[in-house]
Amino acid sequence: MKFLTLINNLLTRMILSTQYCVLCGSKTNSQQICNYCYQDLMRQATMTPQHCWKCLIKMQPHQIVCSNCSENKFIFDRIVAAFDYGFPLDQILQQLKYRTKLEYSALLSQLFYAKISTQITHLPDIIIPVPLHPKKHKLRGFNQTHEILREFANLHPKVRILYATRSKETQPQATLNRGERIANLHKAFRIHENLSGKSVAIIDDVVTTGTTVNELARECRKLGADKVEIWCLMRAQHD
Ligand SMILES: [Zn+2]
Ligand SMILES: [Zn+2]
Repeated sequence: MKFLTLINNLLTRMILSTQYCVLCGSKTNSQQICNYCYQDLMRQATMTPQHCWKCLIKMQPHQIVCSNCSENKFIFDRIVAAFDYGFPLDQILQQLKYRTKLEYSALLSQLFYAKISTQITHLPDIIIPVPLHPKKHKLRGFNQTHEILREFANLHPKVRILYATRSKETQPQATLNRGERIANLHKAFRIHENLSGKSVAIIDDVVTTGTTVNELARECRKLGADKVEIWCLMRAQHD
């Protein structure tokens, strides 16, 4: 009986929580976000003539060569971002990551898929989610990047998901200087497979400096990957 009451309470809570848009609070038809918020997010452009075509950093109007790309020597082909980093999706992602609000994972993965699929021209052979260090993974209980990938994985079951390992506990890259960033990530990732001639998409929730995903891209290139793209939920602009 207790079990049935628990299930009943859970279902009631799920139904109630889906009646209002989690972004603006207006009533919806059992969707997590309303049509207005959805359309608004879909209109957001992460790639304009102002952005570097490769790393998606906003350049100065007179700039022709992206200083961010030349400074960091990015070896991936390009970043594809679903959204710019900011309100309200940053809040939703934080709720998922730090408050384990797993009810947001379906919403984020659907938004990620809806936006990414309009920007890609082909499906990759292999998808590699950025791994968390095992300690962090255990502490959080899940990897948010796997959650974000869920809708894509359901709709494209033939695209193989390859799980890399993270053998080093690293500091957040945005808190370090250039020299520290390189040392911090040195040999941080391992992929246990030959990627010869394969096209790969590396998936991350937020790309800020780009150096973490670049390190994983380096590992892919070492193993023979031909094309390496970075797909992220949000691209943060930094100094
Ligand atoms: Zn709304
Ligand atoms: Zn660039």
